[in-house]
Amino acid sequence: MEVLPFAKCRLDGNCLKCPFRGKAIVYGPFKSHRRGISIGINLFPCRKVCSFNCVYCFRGFTEVKTLKPAIPPYSLSPAILREALEKAINTIGSVDAIDFSGSGEPTLHPKLKSYINTVKEFAKEKSLNASIGIFTNSTTLFRNNIVKVLKELDHVEAKLDTVIEWKFRVINRPHKLLSIKKIIEGLFSFRKVFEGTLAIQIMLLKYNRVNNYGLKDARLIGETLLTIEPDIVHVYVPYRIPRLSSVSKPSKQEVVEFSKILREYGLKVKSFI
Ligand code: SF4
Repeated sequence: MEVLPFAKCRLDGNCLKCPFRGKAIVYGPFKSHRRGISIGINLFPCRKVCSFNCVYCFRGFTEVKTLKPAIPPYSLSPAILREALEKAINTIGSVDAIDFSGSGEPTLHPKLKSYINTVKEFAKEKSLNASIGIFTNSTTLFRNNIVKVLKELDHVEAKLDTVIEWKFRVINRPHKLLSIKKIIEGLFSFRKVFEGTLAIQIMLLKYNRVNNYGLKDARLIGETLLTIEPDIVHVYVPYRIPRLSSVSKPSKQEVVEFSKILREYGLKVKSFI
């Protein structure tokens, strides 16, 4: 199994064409609208492990769909992660953000806590003024052990594409034990204890005849977010080439309308068209 400590990202953002896709522990840099110059950490090199199998996922098909902590086939020690970070920073220089993301859902890795400690120690030693965060699909936030671990981070970017159960099933293709109600409850309780920045990310898209950006979608998600109280809502569209060709983007006007409705609920919204 070929695992790379660090891979430089393609400039065109077409991850599906990257020869190193999913194989690198640390990857980047990329200029993220949300996080500045950042690098990502992939805890599941060589096998995508996720509780979703989203129709728009540019990381490809979910090979292991699970809700339970999953040990990857490649054993990633904190020392190897440190070495990979060292390589990345020696190549790139300083970064604004270091985010756990990568092939699947990072909170499904049972050793996430020790990796977060490794990154924090590394950033401190190198005097990196970087925000340390995670991109999560929000499916494990109802677990106390995960909440405890994520509380150590500066930034949590949590996915919520729809609050309508049947659309959730069509778009995110979740593990069978998940429901949108359970995810919303997890986000709600997480917000109560998380003191860092909680951003909710909503991907607007059309998949065959289903879309999640109608007036009703916007109102329902607006009402829900009002109770969750995130610091910011990030509305975006598939900007990388999605796995399925039946996925398409809304028009600019539709994104503007959707975001406007969320703002009417008093939410801080940033849209990326
Ligand atoms: S949650 Fe993220 S990694 Fe998992 S399938 Fe969806 S887009 Fe891909």
